[in-house]
This record gives sequence, C-alpha cells and structure tokens, in this order.
Amino acid sequence: MPLHKVLKTALTLLLPALLASLPAKGNTQPVAKKLKAIRIEQVTSGLPGSTAGKPLSVRQVLSIDSVGKRLRLEQYSPGDEKALETLYLLHWGKEKETTIFTLPGGEKQYREYRGDLNENQRNRRVHEIEQLRIIRGYPARERKLAMKKLGLRKNGVREVNVRWNEAADHLGLPCKRLTVQENDITVIDAVLTTSVPGQTADTTSSYFEMFRRLGVFSEEVLDKLKGIEGIPLKAEITVITELPSYTISVQARKLTQQKIDEALFKLPPGAKKIIDTPAESTCPICGKQGETERMGRVFTDRGVVYVDSEACAKELQRQIKGAGKKEKNRRP
Ligand SMILES: [Zn+2]
Repeated sequence: MPLHKVLKTALTLLLPALLASLPAKGNTQPVAKKLKAIRIEQVTSGLPGSTAGKPLSVRQVLSIDSVGKRLRLEQYSPGDEKALETLYLLHWGKEKETTIFTLPGGEKQYREYRGDLNENQRNRRVHEIEQLRIIRGYPARERKLAMKKLGLRKNGVREVNVRWNEAADHLGLPCKRLTVQENDITVIDAVLTTSVPGQTADTTSSYFEMFRRLGVFSEEVLDKLKGIEGIPLKAEITVITELPSYTISVQARKLTQQKIDEALFKLPPGAKKIIDTPAESTCPICGKQGETERMGRVFTDRGVVYVDSEACAKELQRQIKGAGKKEKNRRP
C-alpha cells in the first residue's frame, strides 16, 4: 500500500478513538484555576518545640500567592522528610487580621487561629516595662549588664540598624546580605535575592509582609523592613516576644516559580474544624475565670458550658429552663 494510503487508513481508524477520549460538550470538568506562585523548598531549624536541647530541624515547602495574599506551608516530620506533619494555610486579612489554618498531617481536619498576631509584640512591651522596673533597683553595674543582655534601653527605646553587604550567589541567584539589629541584638541576618525569575516586586516584598503578619518582629523593626524586597535563601532570624527568645535558621534548597492549583491555598472541601477545649473559661453567670479542667460542666443544646460553682450551675440550668418555657409559650 502506498504510504499516503497507510496514513489515511491509520487516521480513519484512530480519529474516532481520539474523539471519544475528548470530553463531550456540556460535560466538561471545571478546569482547576492555576496561579502564578513562588515555591521555596527549605530546611528550617531551631523552631520552638525542640526537645532535650536538640534543635528541631525540618523540611518545609513554602508557596506564596502574592496576589491573593495567601501562603501555604508544608512542614514535614523532623525524622522523615517525606512525611507531611502539618500543613499551614495563612490568609492575610484586610487590616491587621490574619487567619492561620493548621491541618495536622494535611488531612481534612483543621484548627483555626484568627486575629492580630502582633498582640505578641504588645505583650512583649508590657513584659519589658516590667523588667525595666525591676532592673531599676539593681546597682549601676549590674543594671548596665542586665539591660545589655536583655537588649533593653532606657525608657524602652528600640534602636534599629539596617546594614547591606555584598554576598556570594546562592542557588545561582545574585544575592545581597541584610543585617538588622535591634538594640545591638541581631534579629535578621539574611542572604536575600531579589532576582527571582519572572517575579515582580509584589512577591519579593510579600515575604516580609508574611513576617509582619506573624508578630515576629517589633513595630520598630517592621518599620525599617518596609519596602525591603527579597527572598531569603539563607537566614537567621531571632524572634523576641515575652517568651524566651529563639533563633531559627532557614536554608533554601530550591526556589522556583510555578503555576499552582488555586485550591491548594484553600481548606480542602469538606474539611472539619477541630474545637479544642480552652485552657481557661469564664463562668457565664458570675464572670469568674478559671481553669476549664477544674470547672463544672453544664450540658446545653449549644454544647458544654463551664461554670465555676454549684450555685452558678443551678442558676444556669434555671435560666435555660426559663428560656425554653418562654420559647414554648411564644410559639402559636
Ligand atoms: Zn460563676
């Protein structure tokens, strides 16, 4: 058979099969929306939660959607780089509010934290003022040493210094080194790149915006970080809150620009919220606060309510019964 005839025959045989494999009109699956995002694979160590002085070192995969102001962080197990331990989804709010969803094991259950995480920094301020008050009573020499060690200045002043230095290329990208000191304590020592292929300033400034949302730095440091662009490929970051400070080290292994399924920045469909028992509860009758574990429980149609005393439990039950009666009476 001549070649053109062979081809023609093959096509006639193949075409129906090809057509059949195409989705029928009106029956097309919704196309998953893809977003341009930056993806960073990194190793982070020194995260809080380390045991026996051994710094926790984990593999993390970070995806930043700078347009939607969302972030996805996959954190793998300390001992197993392939076992997803927790998935974090962070959504920037309009003002200062941030919502963080944590999904243990990346499964369909999540915890939700919502609010202004910079509350951390306000608590730190309160704590520092208290420390300064105590230190004031020390002899001069000790006072000076204590203030230096704690990074405290008279009247709670925070002096922030930003320095830029040259740095060698990292992962094939040109870099600069940024050092930020707060009262002589280095809070950021990072090798940054602004030359992410195909990325705009939007994404590179989003990285620090993320830190702004995490309540990791003081207002004074955040002020100086305004307008700084760049994605750290290597960084040591010291987090100071009212709790003991800690330093985390981040080392990027890979940085790419990718099209990512938009759904990956959202909670999986059908995900269920985990409600944890609060550590402290307030008695709804008298307003007294106490450790939830030590409080009495009253079961209501809205769930368990914690009360501080027998008397308050009785009062609550009386109110519930009363409300129930009223409702019954109101119904025709
Ligand atoms: Zn009470």
